[in-house]
Amino acid sequence: MAARPHVYDWTLPQWEAWVQAQGQPAYRARQIWEGLYRHLWTRPEQFSPLPKALRAALAASFDFQRLTPEAEQASDDRETHKTVFRLPDGPVVETVRMRYVRRRTLCISTQSGCAMGCVFCATGQLGLLRNLSPGEIVEQVLYYARWLRARGERVTHIVVMGMGEPFHNYDAILKALDILNHPAGFRLGARRVTISTVGLVPRIRQFARERRQYNLAVSLHAADDDLRASLIPVARRWPLADLMDAVRFYIAQTHRRVTFEWALIHEVNDTPDQARALARWLRGMLAHVNLIPLNPTPGYAGRASPRARARAFCQVLEQAGVPCTVRLRRGIDIQAGCGQLAGRALAARPRFLVGSRLTAGEGA
Ligand code: SAH
Ligand code: SF4
Repeated sequence: MAARPHVYDWTLPQWEAWVQAQGQPAYRARQIWEGLYRHLWTRPEQFSPLPKALRAALAASFDFQRLTPEAEQASDDRETHKTVFRLPDGPVVETVRMRYVRRRTLCISTQSGCAMGCVFCATGQLGLLRNLSPGEIVEQVLYYARWLRARGERVTHIVVMGMGEPFHNYDAILKALDILNHPAGFRLGARRVTISTVGLVPRIRQFARERRQYNLAVSLHAADDDLRASLIPVARRWPLADLMDAVRFYIAQTHRRVTFEWALIHEVNDTPDQARALARWLRGMLAHVNLIPLNPTPGYAGRASPRARARAFCQVLEQAGVPCTVRLRRGIDIQAGCGQLAGRALAARPRFLVGSRLTAGEGA
């Protein structure tokens, strides 16, 4: 890792301490934040409200960019767009932008690779390369915020569902989100952010106690412990009963609805038995189930459930009073779907890509 701090790593009080150490009044910190998070400036010389000496200190003391975009891809329907970033020490990380009717949603990463080893997930198949710093998480958002601003649009939602397990890099993801949420910073509403966890029970309890307003999603994928552990090795540590206790505690603390995610794998976890068992766990809970037909990954032979089986699974839940949605798969043609992120675009085709056509330099 580079020795200099990254401009996006610091909270406002950290900046206040730094500007004061430079012999400047504390309000200069807010001017720096305004430059970073409202104007989306990327170079120290753009910080025109600051005295020259402070601009020079900024330039000398901080990294302004840690993520180098190396490949860009847009899905054939143009609604999903993915960037592969190279980190300064070598690993890659991917960020996805999705366009919905009114939403501009970013799917951001918290780690390069992942240590949890879920068998159906391309990121898990990589193993963990390293945690991202708070600034490296924030920089993914600002990269796309600039991209959208150039088109008269802005980031409306963030889902922390890219590479990595956010609660395995807990302090960094919360610091990054708090910077993005701060009224003097990027000002993205906390309720527009969703953190998805594989189900690290102590962290769910910790998150519940913090009473932050970010939404919580829990990746379930199975309604009994044996099946779950066969898909999600880390699940062996926390039986479903403990996980559900932690989620109930979260709901009691925050009064917020929890989303459960379930990748439907043909004849593995899409049976009526699994649907009934899931309904028993969730009956009466402030919850919603997102069913996502499995996306293909190179290291797992399971197949997506056909549409009819997905509908039938959903109906069992609905009849038991558990709200449920079958999600459309998106960005599959560019490996931008859930669980498909593995930095492979680089290995396969080392140039800038849009859909299947080469357009050198696009989007950089
Ligand atoms: N580590 C976190 C967030 C990143 S994964 C988590 O596991 O929740 C985002 C979502 O994609 C999770 O619900 C995950 O289970 C799901 N997912 C992983 N691989 C998938 C695949 N091949 N098809 C569909 N969803 C998948
Ligand atoms: Fe990690 Fe989530 Fe993939 Fe599991 S599904 S390996 S927790 S990124």
